[in-house]
Amino acid sequence: MTSDSRAPQPRHPGRQPPPVATRTTAPGPAPTDLLGRLRARHDTDPVTHIERVPARTGEPVPWPTWVPADLHTAFARQGVDTPWRHQAEAASLAYTGTHVVVATGTASGKSLAYQLPALATLLADPRATVLYLAPTKALAVDQLRAVTDLDLDGIRPACYDGDTPRAEREWIRQHARFVLTNPDMLHHGILPGHAQWTPFLRRLAYVVVDECHIYRGVFGSHVAHVLRRLRRRCTRIGRTPVFVLASATSGDPAATAERLTGLPVAAVTGDTSPRGGVTFALWEPPTQPAPAAAPDDTDLAPVRRSALRETADLLADAVAAGVRTLAFVRSRRGAEAVAANARRALDEAVPGLGDQVAAYRAGYLREERRELERSLLRGELRGLASTNALELGVDLVGLDAVLICGYPGTRASLWQQAGRAGRSGQEALAVLVARDDPLDSYLVHHPEAVFGAPVEATVLDPTNPYVLGPQLACAAAEAPLTPADLDLFGDGAKEAVDALVEAGALRQRPTGWYWRHRERPQVDLRGGDGAPICVVETATGRLLGTVDGGSSHFLLHPGAVYLHQGVSHVVDALDLADGCALVHPEEPDWSTHARDVTSLSVVAVRSYLDAGPVGLFLGEVDVTSQVVSYQRRRIATGEVIDTRPLDLPARELRTVAVWFTLSPESLAAAGIDPADVPGALHAAEHAAIGLLPLTATCDRWDIGGLSTAAHPDTGAPTVFVYDGHSGGAGFAERAYGTAATWLQATRDAVAECSCETGCPSCVQSPKCGNGNNPLSKPDAVRVLDVVLANLPVLTTSGPDHLRS
Ligand SMILES: [Zn+2]
Ligand SMILES: [Zn+2]
Repeated sequence: MTSDSRAPQPRHPGRQPPPVATRTTAPGPAPTDLLGRLRARHDTDPVTHIERVPARTGEPVPWPTWVPADLHTAFARQGVDTPWRHQAEAASLAYTGTHVVVATGTASGKSLAYQLPALATLLADPRATVLYLAPTKALAVDQLRAVTDLDLDGIRPACYDGDTPRAEREWIRQHARFVLTNPDMLHHGILPGHAQWTPFLRRLAYVVVDECHIYRGVFGSHVAHVLRRLRRRCTRIGRTPVFVLASATSGDPAATAERLTGLPVAAVTGDTSPRGGVTFALWEPPTQPAPAAAPDDTDLAPVRRSALRETADLLADAVAAGVRTLAFVRSRRGAEAVAANARRALDEAVPGLGDQVAAYRAGYLREERRELERSLLRGELRGLASTNALELGVDLVGLDAVLICGYPGTRASLWQQAGRAGRSGQEALAVLVARDDPLDSYLVHHPEAVFGAPVEATVLDPTNPYVLGPQLACAAAEAPLTPADLDLFGDGAKEAVDALVEAGALRQRPTGWYWRHRERPQVDLRGGDGAPICVVETATGRLLGTVDGGSSHFLLHPGAVYLHQGVSHVVDALDLADGCALVHPEEPDWSTHARDVTSLSVVAVRSYLDAGPVGLFLGEVDVTSQVVSYQRRRIATGEVIDTRPLDLPARELRTVAVWFTLSPESLAAAGIDPADVPGALHAAEHAAIGLLPLTATCDRWDIGGLSTAAHPDTGAPTVFVYDGHSGGAGFAERAYGTAATWLQATRDAVAECSCETGCPSCVQSPKCGNGNNPLSKPDAVRVLDVVLANLPVLTTSGPDHLRS
């Protein structure tokens, strides 16, 4: 086992048994017995691998000498007698002025690492202040309660977010000393209104960035600049706060934290909290006969039992065995389907037993969700189906079993989810149920890629000009930019400022660059491309929310099923001129999946590798895509009902791509008939997109691809994989840097798939614009073999700035 696997931890750091031990139910069967029971439901063994994650004893250390007695007492009241070594180490680094990131497992007590220096400083200096940032409001509320419960004099903690009543805001700015907020509020509220915040910022001792692994891709790149804007403001009023970051276990957390803050950051990564042992099984649902597909759509018929159904059955079996089980499902609809199916199965066995299973419904209030968690911990509820770990409270750990329906995209999130299972002194079970796609299938047959590999680094790219430009505009609107600021904002800042001057947004004067407009720039941190589209209820005219322009054609086309706060709507019309979509509430039993057609041209090559008949490139490209149709699919089975045409305009995207070329001769020498080259490249492209999340922390929906037997810009057979966001999000760069590893895994996934001509587990793609045609599975392996035979292995470590 690598040190990245984390499992059970006590609810709070410290030596006392966690409060969850007070459960009222008898313990369920041992994990291996439970696993045996679950396996017995199929004729063929669905388990492809079992990994034992050993138990670990904790390493308590004395309180650092600088921690005041008041704090010992306060934490002792919470059941924390002494800290674990990693907590004390990170806290002491921060207390002595070193920027630090603590990157350890689920419930390893990361909060103590920032609470100790922050609270000790607030107690010692009655004027000092602390700013805490969480990626969601709910997390900030949880943290507020944790700090409030310590019951310390004079700290006056308070949440400051979009929900904070106007009347309270002024009081918070003037009196609160521990302000909890989120990057969006910092960006939209605190920094633009910095004059009112000056007294608070002038005394700012610490900036806490919690759950910082969430700041990835375009969102992460924006947050990186919001933090630079905060640092700039502090510098101007003579303040240099210490940054304390907390992250889930991730690869190279120091480098990521440095990219995020622009500061040198020390990392504390050794988890010294105790955990119980976990039996971790990889599970591949058995195949089943393909359901009849609609006549015009024979592709994408599922060959394996759906992971949702399989997870529901496992959840029902575990609950029937008296085991407290948490099932992670990727979508809200999926989570509700799993809970409903498990309830039905249990009620069929014993009427009323279904009541022991619930779904974590969006739209439930936070308090209702926490009550569900408490019921599960007390054993009144035995099964819960939920979406991601972030929505769950930090207290929800120590479960007997965790089911993970579909690979969550990264090993980091996999361990976060599995980390909810087990607690000190007790064994637990974790099961990863594979979905029918290339990455999941690859992983359940390559346990070394799950258990033997380090967790991924969090990828973000603050140099993205599409992020940097708007962020510099925001900074200039807050206070004129100076040459010194350009260093702060990093590579590309000068070019971005020049572009803003040319566009008439900034005016250059001897004293710096000035924002020319009356109103502030409108910038969405969550990475919207184009103006957001308003989603409006047809009957009432009520605004439900907004969708960024880049996704609107996919999510809001006429006929699309659109979920808002867990409530299903169907789109009546998309009015692009008015920037709005009209919807009505309706809950059909199908989901919709838009398809697009794409063309691509190369704008500039940033970096390349000439490997004889093979070339590997990284560069800027223009992608033109048009959403042309959508499929309707049954939610429970994935069965395609039909495909309907759409009439939407084409869209342009300037982004970053990685691509490889092969000479036609090398393809012929590998035995690929010229007529089969398009199918070979297309199949390789699909599989490569499916496997990219293995090395980059992206979702396959963050990236796009294009393959062609002869591209005008490369003059050769080419496969492109590009970032789906303007200016790129760092994923293509990451792919370029890890090409050998990435493409080897792609090759193996295709070669080892047991299907004959290609299936969703290898070369078929759920988002293909060409209906998965043509595709040649055996030739895709030949293409990838040619590439791998020529690519030097040296590319595995990545470009310099990624490696750092
Ligand atoms: Zn296959
Ligand atoms: Zn395709």
